[in-house]
Amino acid sequence: MTRVHVDMNLCQSHGECVYVAPDIFELGDDDVLRWREEISPEEREVAQEAADACPMLAIRLEG
Ligand code: SF4
Repeated sequence: MTRVHVDMNLCQSHGECVYVAPDIFELGDDDVLRWREEISPEEREVAQEAADACPMLAIRLEG
C-alpha cells in the first residue's frame, strides 16, 4: 500500500496533479485540493507522475 501526502502549506491549487491523475486528486468547487491517501500498487506510477508534475513539489509518496 502506498500513501499519498500533500503538504497543503505548499499546495497552491495549480491542478497539475488533477490533470495527470484525476482518479487520485480533485479540486473542489472551493479550489481546495482533495485526494485519496491510500492508493494501489497499480496507481503508484501515475501518482509519481503527478508528484513530478507538481510545481510546488508538494506531493510525497510513502511506501
Ligand atoms: S499540482 Fe501541486 S500545487 Fe497543484 S494542486 Fe496538485 S499538489 Fe497542489
